[in-house]
Amino acid sequence: MLFFAVTGLLTIAFNLLLGFPFYFNYKWMVLSLIASALAVAARRASNLKLVYRIGVYLFGFVLLPFGWLTSAGLASPAIVYSLFLLIMINYLTEGRERITANALFVLLNVALISLYYIRPELFADMTPREQYLDWLTNVPLLFTVIAFSLAGFEKAYENERRQNMRKARELEQLSETDYLTGLYNRLRLKSALKAAEAGFSRTGKPFSLLLLDIDHFKAYNDHNGHIRGDSCLKEVAGAIRSCLVRESDEAFRFGGEEFLVLLPYTEAEGAINVAERVRTAVQELRIPHPASPTADVVTVSVGVTCADNSISTVAKLIDSADEALYRAKETGRNQAVLYERRRTALRTTGQ
Ligand code: GH3
Ligand code: MG
Ligand code: MG
Repeated sequence: MLFFAVTGLLTIAFNLLLGFPFYFNYKWMVLSLIASALAVAARRASNLKLVYRIGVYLFGFVLLPFGWLTSAGLASPAIVYSLFLLIMINYLTEGRERITANALFVLLNVALISLYYIRPELFADMTPREQYLDWLTNVPLLFTVIAFSLAGFEKAYENERRQNMRKARELEQLSETDYLTGLYNRLRLKSALKAAEAGFSRTGKPFSLLLLDIDHFKAYNDHNGHIRGDSCLKEVAGAIRSCLVRESDEAFRFGGEEFLVLLPYTEAEGAINVAERVRTAVQELRIPHPASPTADVVTVSVGVTCADNSISTVAKLIDSADEALYRAKETGRNQAVLYERRRTALRTTGQ
């Protein structure tokens, strides 16, 4: 930031040393000040493009014509600045704005050149030596301004890009999260199951599923109201989450009061252990449930299934977990039941 101001001041000092009148300097001083102000604003602004755009318009359509008029007309270093402006216009704007800005730029230049033709006396009258020195003292400033501006743009855009990426990640997370329980939702489940399935077919290492359902939850709602029902769902979700220790294990809200836990690289035995841990954890929450015929606190039933070569597709796997859950419900609730393959095998053969 200070760099622009220092370079500007150095240029002025140079000009003064070379004995130029003050009007040689002030436009470059203003340029340096604008660039400095922009650099400061760019650090704080949330809309960087806007800041730079304001700067480019200010610089291009106010300062530049002024530069032309006070620096020997067509021999002015402002011509090089114009090219810089042209690059910036096309870098910063798009669509209709780009067309308009470019058209304005062309018109402005045509107007200035025409003015130079019609009224040359309006432009500063400089000797060739003065023109040479004008260039010599101002063009280095010009190139440093260009270089630093571009570097600034790069950095600013990189920051903006990172911010956007972070926002996109946050949005993605939000879209995959169940708003009530904070667990993953079914959108995420879809991709997680796909990944688990792919991992299984690649490595042959089994993965397991737990399907959990709160026992007599309708009665809980009827007895306590929906708001308390919602709190109960949150607490149960928390208990489920607290039981997952491996990084790869994930919990999802599968439906209203149903949850699903995906355990990659886990055999049936391990899955049963986790299921039992979750079931106990929910019971240990000790959420009173006087309307439940199963227990006096809220409990869950769990269907457990493990992917192996006979049930390797996701749809079949969920069906099998569902079947195990059904059996857990049927045979008393508040328990975890492992899906038994033989039953299906018998069924599919019609016995
Ligand atoms: P079972 O032991 O056989 O699972 O019986 P259940 O009453 O738990 O099962 P049922 O499917 O009959 O009822 C599920 C209830 O879950 C019905 C519905 O009111 C409740 N429920 C589903 N989603 C939500 C929710 O987001 N908030 C609340 N408070 N209740 C919900
Ligand atoms: Mg249910
Ligand atoms: Mg239920």
